[in-house]
Amino acid sequence: MHIELAASKAMLDKEYKDSKIRLHPLDTNQYCLGRIGVHKVVLTSLISAGTNQANSAAIHMYETFRNLRFILMVDIGGGIPCLDTGEDVRLGDVVVSMPSGGYGGVIQYDSGKFLQNRDFQRTGALSLPPKQLRKVVNHLRTNHEGKDNCITKHIEEMLSKFLEYTEKESNYSRLDSAQDLLFNAKYMHKEEGDTCASCDKKQLVHRFDRPKDKPIIHYGNIASRSDVIRDALKRDQLGKDLDVVCFEIKAAGLMDEFQCLVIREICDYSNSHKNKKWQRYATIVAATYAKELLGQIPRSNTEGISLYPDSIPVDTCCTLQEASIHKPDTPSHLSPRLVDQQFYASAR
Ligand SMILES: [Zn+2]
Repeated sequence: MHIELAASKAMLDKEYKDSKIRLHPLDTNQYCLGRIGVHKVVLTSLISAGTNQANSAAIHMYETFRNLRFILMVDIGGGIPCLDTGEDVRLGDVVVSMPSGGYGGVIQYDSGKFLQNRDFQRTGALSLPPKQLRKVVNHLRTNHEGKDNCITKHIEEMLSKFLEYTEKESNYSRLDSAQDLLFNAKYMHKEEGDTCASCDKKQLVHRFDRPKDKPIIHYGNIASRSDVIRDALKRDQLGKDLDVVCFEIKAAGLMDEFQCLVIREICDYSNSHKNKKWQRYATIVAATYAKELLGQIPRSNTEGISLYPDSIPVDTCCTLQEASIHKPDTPSHLSPRLVDQQFYASAR
């Protein structure tokens, strides 16, 4: 998760390094403050995975930053390569949570009922991303139909920034497509090593080379629960049953409580095969998408968004890598804690 935070940090147009944050007494998050375009952003990361941890972190963030508008959850995901349906998800691609097939964009697939002599019945539905964000996502999606996205450009900018303070920049570069290995669902990883060097390459799924060797952004439902899926057969079955594009392990803790959009970088295929080579590159791709998205949102479009549509629940807790905030527009006497913070004072 530190990798995701580092990538998001590199996307900042300006970092407010000297800001002193007056944390809420219960807030244990660590923050990075900055600006992307016209939006002020707060970045944080989780120290462990899970839907509850994400919920807890978001609650604490809101306690300290009461003027938060929405959350962009940027993190890793396991792709579901649905070649039959044309959803050719590959390593390094991005998945954005958007409603599809009657679902709201994120599906908590472990929520339901165990009934005697019957299959597990899933129940309940999570909230949709806020309408304002869905409109912007659709606008961006439309733009990308007619021309290339700006991801490649942003990646180059980000790598040049990384050169200033890391020697790991080569790990963030796009790998050759020959290192994107998708095995037949029934073929399991050889346990001898942490790589697929010993795995039978005859079991690879044949995929056509993309005309342009660059990441693609997919839109649709994301399946979420706290446990990781490492089973290709289960992956494919759930993919068909739920109409999902990828799996992840945090978002379900946020969707019903906060105004939130989930962005996932694909760095594995939710199977038994091990491959961590793509994570850094995939992380940059997702962070650049978040940056491009924020760049499409006028400040006026966020005025009607409140992070917590309802009152703060006291019995829930979890995640985020990035959240958009604004200068407090409310009069200072209505939000004393906000204007007390040096971050806001220095931003005016
Ligand atoms: Zn393998």
